[in-house]
Amino acid sequence: MRWESDVPLDSLARYRIGGPVQRLCRPESLEALRKGLREASDTGYKILGTGANVLISDRGLDCSVLVLKGELDYVRVENGAIEAGAAARLPALAGTARRLALRGFHFLEAVPGTIGGGLRMNAGSRDDWLWHCAEWAQLMTPEGELVRMSPAEVAPSYRHVDVPDDWVFVAARFSAPKGEIAAIKEAHMSFRERKVRDQVYELPSIGSTWKNPPAPYPAAWLIVNEVG
Ligand SMILES: Cc1cc2nc3c(=O)[nH]c(=O)nc-3n(C[C@H](O)[C@H](O)[C@H](O)COP(=O)(O)OP(=O)(O)OC[C@H]3O[C@@H](n4cnc5c(N)ncnc54)[C@H](O)[C@@H]3O)c2cc1C
Repeated sequence: MRWESDVPLDSLARYRIGGPVQRLCRPESLEALRKGLREASDTGYKILGTGANVLISDRGLDCSVLVLKGELDYVRVENGAIEAGAAARLPALAGTARRLALRGFHFLEAVPGTIGGGLRMNAGSRDDWLWHCAEWAQLMTPEGELVRMSPAEVAPSYRHVDVPDDWVFVAARFSAPKGEIAAIKEAHMSFRERKVRDQVYELPSIGSTWKNPPAPYPAAWLIVNEVG
C-alpha cells in the first residue's frame, strides 16, 4: 500500500480547515482497502469521504486516514435496483434514481458526499434519510472480513447508525417502488432548487452546523435564532 506522509487535510475537507495527518492512503479496491486497514492497525484510522461533514483540528490527526477511490466508485443498475460503491457520490445516486423514476430519493439532490459518508451519517433531511432507501450495505471489518447489514441491523435514526466506528462501508444496494417519471423529476428539481437557494454552497461549510435535538425540543436553527 502506498502511504503519503504528513498530508494536510484542509484541502480534503469542505470547511477548508484541518492540520496534517500522519499518513494517508487511497485504496482503489477491496483488496487494497483490506491491506490498508491491516497496515493502519497500529495507528488506528479514520475513513474520509469528501469531507462534507467533518471538522478537523488545526493540530491534525494522530492516526492514519484512508480515502476510498477507483473500483469502489461505481453506480450500476441491477434488476431495477441501484448498487453503488462507497466512493460513489450521493448526487450520482440521486440522479440515477431520478432517471429510473424511483420514488423517495429527491432529498439527496444537492447533498454533497459519498455513499460511504452518507450511510455512516444517515444523510438526508429530518424525516427522509438514506437508510430509508437501502436494502443492505456491505462493510469491511478491521480484520478485512466483509459483512452485509440490513436496515434493521444498523437501526438507523436521525444522523446515526448502530455500526462500530472502525467498520468501513464499501457498497450498498438501494431500491424503491417506481413512480411517474414527470412527477419524480419535478420532486427532484424543486427540492434541488429550494436547497441550492437556501444553503451556502460557495463558501466553506458542512451544510447544517448543528444537529437537531430530539423531540420535544424545537429544530436547532430555532434555538440558535432564539439565542441571538
Ligand atoms: C452544502 C452542504 C449541504 C449539505 N446538506 C446536507 C443534507 O441535506 N443532509 C445531510 O444529511 N447532510 C448534508 N450535508 C453534510 C454532508 O453532505 C453529509 O453528511 C454527507 O453524508 C457527508 O459525506 P462525506 O463522504 O463527505 O463524508 P465525510 O464528511 O468525509 O465523513 C463523515 C463521516 O463519515 C465517515 N465515513 C466516510 N466514509 C465512510 C465509509 N466508507 N465507511 C465508514 N465511515 C465513513 C467519516 O469517518 C466521518 O465520520 C451537507 C454538506 C454541505 C457542505
